[in-house]
Amino acid sequence: MAEVVTCPSCSQRVRVPASAKGNPRCPHCKAPLPWVVNGDDENFADVSARGAVLVDLWAPWCPPCRMVAPHLVSLAGEKAGSLKVVKINVDDAPRTQSRFGAQSIPTLVLLKDGREVARQVGAVGLPQLRRWVDSSLAK
Ligand SMILES: [Zn+2]
Repeated sequence: MAEVVTCPSCSQRVRVPASAKGNPRCPHCKAPLPWVVNGDDENFADVSARGAVLVDLWAPWCPPCRMVAPHLVSLAGEKAGSLKVVKINVDDAPRTQSRFGAQSIPTLVLLKDGREVARQVGAVGLPQLRRWVDSSLAK
């Protein structure tokens, strides 16, 4: 499973794998690429196992989830090479939702090498989201 993104550095369209050993880089200019992938119950363990991963538990029918979504894309761009965003549509991933015991959405869970380090329930703005990620990963 791969997703196509536009390289922020050279504007080439490139494929980004859902899981990889290291953070993906652009094959043309070698710049780190924003890494936003869609996960589900089948691939969750694989796509969330390594590095700093921000899990977004969301659903299409949830307006606050739609508010947060563009902030997550912005953050993935700012933190290309150091943060991966994994989007989990809870309607399609009930086991992952219950694994995190997420009773309301959006729930954002920050993982470091597969281990939960912080959790944010409810929609937040981009500056608040950035501060939360930075301070949680600095611990
Ligand atoms: Zn590039």
